[in-house]
Amino acid sequence: MLAPFWHSWDMGFSIDLLPASADNYIYLVSDVALGLAMVVDPGDADVVKRALQKKDLHLALILNTHHHSDHTAGNAKLQHDYGAPIIGPSKEAHRIEGISRSVDEGDFVTFSDLRGHVIETPGHTMGSLSYYFPELKALFSGDTLFSLGCGRLFEGNGAQMWSSLLKLRALPDDTQIYCGHEYTERNAGFALMLDKDNEALKARAEEVAALRKKGLPTLPVSLAQEKAINPFLRVDDPAFQKMLQKNGFPTDVDPAAIFGSLRAAKDRFTK
Ligand code: ZN
Ligand code: FE
Repeated sequence: MLAPFWHSWDMGFSIDLLPASADNYIYLVSDVALGLAMVVDPGDADVVKRALQKKDLHLALILNTHHHSDHTAGNAKLQHDYGAPIIGPSKEAHRIEGISRSVDEGDFVTFSDLRGHVIETPGHTMGSLSYYFPELKALFSGDTLFSLGCGRLFEGNGAQMWSSLLKLRALPDDTQIYCGHEYTERNAGFALMLDKDNEALKARAEEVAALRKKGLPTLPVSLAQEKAINPFLRVDDPAFQKMLQKNGFPTDVDPAAIFGSLRAAKDRFTK
């Protein structure tokens, strides 16, 4: 089960995508030489324990992007069994039981030789964080940035989410996005409705359909690709604004406002 979802680097790290519950991904980052692992958003402790046992790894660190239970429900059991500290957003520390260290914008988290940058990305929740690991070229974006989509606005507003996405969009083009859910196929339907003649988008939608048919993940995905075809990263792109206008969206307003109406339309689309 683990083998097809495995990405490794010459320097001896690997990232496993662990599917959990209906459509979550838990990410396991391992230092193969040391036999140590870090986990991002363990919504299910048993899924993580099985992977650790199979790969003969000790869990050294738990990272949470936000407080929702599908990202944190495995925290307590893993902390109990491995003594691993839990790092999460300081703005949500009171909602994450057993949190060991709370972090904010500009802080660093370390695992083995790796140094992850903490980026505050509010919108989905008020304290949502993303973690960027330059050595891995990996962004753990939680429920903020998805492939071809973005998180729902449960706590924040459109302007907050738009400025969060701008921060992520400014990362290097070769950044690989590891997000919290397998929503890509559904997101592709909405994106295509707005921009049906976009060849790059059509190609990605076909690739996604083929992967899902085989039960394979559509992640990670490069930021360069998302910048070209994710509608939520393109509300300030004049070419995409033309497509929005054709679809009846007001576009003579600032990008944050365009973003707000696009996000609202997506909520209705998915219902
Ligand atoms: Zn969430
Ligand atoms: Fe979630």
